[in-house]
Amino acid sequence: MYIKSIRTRLTIWYTCLLTVTLLIVGGAAFVLLSYSLSHEMDNALDSVARALMERDQSRAATFPPSEIDLAFRRFFGFSPWDHYFQMRDPSGNRDEHRSLPSTAKLPLSSTALNNAMRGLSTFETVEGLGEYPVRLLTMPVMESNRVINMIQVGMSLKSIDETYVRFLLIMAGTLPLGLLLAASGGWLLAHRALKPVDRMTAAARRISAEHLSQRVEETGTGDELDNLAKTLNQMLTRLDDAFSQIRRFSADASHELQTPLTILKGELEVVLRSKRTAEEYRATLESALEEVDRTANLVEGLLLLARAEAGVLRMDRQEVDLGQMLEEVYIRLKPLADSRSIELQLGAIEPLSIQGDRERLERMTSNLVDNAIKYTGAEGRVTLGLEHDSRCASILVSDTGKGISVEDQKHIFQAFYRTSEARSLAERGTGLGLSIAQSIAAAHGGTIKVESAPGRGSSFKVLIPITS
Ligand code: ADP
Repeated sequence: MYIKSIRTRLTIWYTCLLTVTLLIVGGAAFVLLSYSLSHEMDNALDSVARALMERDQSRAATFPPSEIDLAFRRFFGFSPWDHYFQMRDPSGNRDEHRSLPSTAKLPLSSTALNNAMRGLSTFETVEGLGEYPVRLLTMPVMESNRVINMIQVGMSLKSIDETYVRFLLIMAGTLPLGLLLAASGGWLLAHRALKPVDRMTAAARRISAEHLSQRVEETGTGDELDNLAKTLNQMLTRLDDAFSQIRRFSADASHELQTPLTILKGELEVVLRSKRTAEEYRATLESALEEVDRTANLVEGLLLLARAEAGVLRMDRQEVDLGQMLEEVYIRLKPLADSRSIELQLGAIEPLSIQGDRERLERMTSNLVDNAIKYTGAEGRVTLGLEHDSRCASILVSDTGKGISVEDQKHIFQAFYRTSEARSLAERGTGLGLSIAQSIAAAHGGTIKVESAPGRGSSFKVLIPITS
């Protein structure tokens, strides 16, 4: 089963981890406790046995010694020889005189007997002497390297057992309670930490294409969620810009398409209003053809831009002699430059061939030269050039024209952008020339750079990587 809520998943994970940790810690505590309890008990048995041994060696009369009996009763609440005390002779027989008749008969294992014969004590746990197992110490009493007696002292494991039970009861009581508290605390923490996500979700739901100016609330804490909110807002800003650009583009495109159609319609309506001479019809048709050409150009330009944007611009790649291409552009546009008293010249041309779409490269260069002629006054000069290094070809188009301000330089490659200077000219541009040129450069993996200052002319440089 998959749990959708992160809050619940976090809480479950946290609780499971805590349970495992507590169980490990509890288990370790239990092992430590049992080790130290048995250790303590063995120590106590050893001390009692030693005290008794000294007594036995000094042949003291009273047995068991009253002070040990007393001390034992004070510390443990009972005395070992109430039940578990016994003296044996060297051959292992029970010494009836010095073993209280009330005490249960303590067994003597062969291991304990063997150890005692070698002067060693033995600790054993013996079952069947009472309700609980008994911890039994068999210690030899030695005199001049000879075993003269054996002392057996035992202690019931009842108190240890009871301590274990108490420990387990405490664990069983506190563990679920602690887990419950920790789980509710964890859930509350997760709930608080994830609250901004709910707010972000609600805000994101409100934002649609029409309301891209709205933003997600930033908490300003600098944590992961705040970073997420900031990233979302940056993305919204980019989307907002892109949407505005698309809207502007559609509005500009419709406007640019509408203008020639309106002119065309007006001209045709006027000419149809009354009877005209053949000359007048011809003039109107020529003008109409101009508008149709302009519209067709515009539509073709828009199509090229749309294809380039979608990455489906078809490229007819072949070997292109760039020097030759520049010469052809020069020859084609020279009459236009001459008609405006502009000197169009070929500058330094370093011969170079690259792989590319010849027709499109020519169109790109023509657009730049056409602009240079358009925005350079009479007596100006437009120069075409070609340079290259080992990696890059540079097509240069520079003019001595009006120049472009730094602010305008940021926008001139946008479709339909025209500087206010350009708008004031009688010349009708489409505003697509540079965007198309840039798309063609980009389709060849290149870029276009501009250097210009108002009144100081402009210089456009197309950089295209040379791919062999
Ligand atoms: P347009 O059809 O208006 O020429 P472009 O995309 O070719 O459209 O150019 C965009 C704008 O860049 C022009 O309107 C003009 O303001 C400016 N521009 C382009 N080339 C030059 C240049 N050589 N000198 C000055 N301004 C230029």
